[in-house]
Amino acid sequence: MPRERYKVKNLNDKGIVVLGGGLAGLSSAFTLAKAGQPVKVFESDSGVGGLSKTMHYGDFRFDLGGHRFLTSNEQTENFVRDLLDGEYLTVPRKSKIFMNNRFFDYPLKPANALLGLGMRTTFRALADYGREKIKNSFRRPAHVSLEDWVVAHFGRTMFNIYFREYSEKVWGLECKSISEEWVSKRIEGLSLGVAIKNALFKFNGKKVPTLIDKFIYPALGIGRISDRLKEEIEKGNSVSTSTRVTRIDHKGPFITGIAAKNCERAYDVKGREFISSIPLTNLVKMLSPAPPGEIIEAASRLRYRDLVIVTILLDKERVTDLTWLYLPEKNMPLGRIHEPKNWSPRMAPEGKTSVVAEYFCFREDRIWNSTDGELTSITVRELEKLGFIRENEVLDSCVVRVPNAYPVFEVGYNEHYSGILKYLEKFKNLHIIGRSGMFRYYNMDRAIETGIETAENIIQNSKLKTQRRDSL
Ligand SMILES: Cc1cc2nc3c(=O)[nH]c(=O)nc-3n(C[C@H](O)[C@H](O)[C@H](O)COP(=O)(O)OP(=O)(O)OC[C@H]3O[C@@H](n4cnc5c(N)ncnc54)[C@H](O)[C@@H]3O)c2cc1C
Repeated sequence: MPRERYKVKNLNDKGIVVLGGGLAGLSSAFTLAKAGQPVKVFESDSGVGGLSKTMHYGDFRFDLGGHRFLTSNEQTENFVRDLLDGEYLTVPRKSKIFMNNRFFDYPLKPANALLGLGMRTTFRALADYGREKIKNSFRRPAHVSLEDWVVAHFGRTMFNIYFREYSEKVWGLECKSISEEWVSKRIEGLSLGVAIKNALFKFNGKKVPTLIDKFIYPALGIGRISDRLKEEIEKGNSVSTSTRVTRIDHKGPFITGIAAKNCERAYDVKGREFISSIPLTNLVKMLSPAPPGEIIEAASRLRYRDLVIVTILLDKERVTDLTWLYLPEKNMPLGRIHEPKNWSPRMAPEGKTSVVAEYFCFREDRIWNSTDGELTSITVRELEKLGFIRENEVLDSCVVRVPNAYPVFEVGYNEHYSGILKYLEKFKNLHIIGRSGMFRYYNMDRAIETGIETAENIIQNSKLKTQRRDSL
């Protein structure tokens, strides 16, 4: 008989169980811990931070795609500043876009945008834009896809030149199949578009968050925010890394417990409240008993876009002075690069630097399934073509595959999404939070806020329950 691999340990059922140790889950756990509520976090990865973690490779550090913290909410900003306790820098943002074999400033300046298009195309773009404006003033157009929305707001010429390729590269779908909801709710997310509209048409004079030219950045990488949250939570509570949640048990309107395991043991964990920041589709699949067939089917229709990060370590002082470089054209396989040392000098040892390349893909794509060696060769070749590096400057490389990086809003996704939410609402002690957990295109600030808000609601409800009990 093989020896039992996992020992089962029962934990008490008074506590709050948090699934996922990214920024959302940790912010929830931190807020609960500060209020004296017992909390336990389970994270499948070997470290915390999720999409906002910082990798350490030898003396180099890099984020999974440069992460810049921005918020218009003073409380959220103070939350992060207090945590970092001065361990951050204020970084000027300087980005460019590479198109038609030229580098353009980002955000685009009017002269830049005109030069980039050439006079004839600029006039055509302006005429198209005017035509759409007039057409839309007579009837409110029905927008279904990103293409509908962008053409109505920017004109067809602008759509073709600036939006089509980059959107299709990011999402891996034709613009006709990408829901308009993504772009209309989050125009600042489509930052290239805002930049162009700002440059050519002056965008309402409103400050668009993604165009702000300075941001705060932890000196040791964005993952420091999560590391600090973990340190605080662990003053009395636990964060179990390398521990994957595998099953979520429920009975009637309540989640009763979870099963989790790591390479040493298995846990059956009971709890009072359950907060999930793990990908929504995985949560549905882990429910036991399994949800009705149509809910499982709906979950299988929602997709996340994955990401491959290739970091090239270089025996060179500096490659660029840029924060980000966007590479919208389809003939280049990578979508964006950044040089961590330009975000904080502590991201690379003295005299050396690194470049991080992002490849947007799905797990079944060739890029995801290429070997690390192949990915390194492709990246070095593309960086050489851009004139940034020479092969003999390459010291080493590090490849990280990041699953579930972006929720994909395909046309029609909402029907499946709302069906799942409606089903999950029946559980009175299950709370979904964060970008992956809520299947929302949230940045770090919103991920943190959803975690804090949920924790505050739980704290408030438990206070009310205690008051009611005491008054009996
Ligand atoms: C390339 C890229 C660049 C970005 N740049 C910026 C930026 O510049 N500024 C900005 O504000 N935002 C940026 N973001 C968004 C930011 O990363 C997210 O908003 C934030 O990290 C989401 O945190 P979260 O906790 O909601 O989700 P996640 O980080 O996805 O956390 C979920 C956690 O659950 C864990 N998990 C999953 N399954 C299980 C399981 N079964 N058991 C236990 N644990 C599990 C995961 O390992 C993960 O740690 C960027 C995102 C990407 C992909």
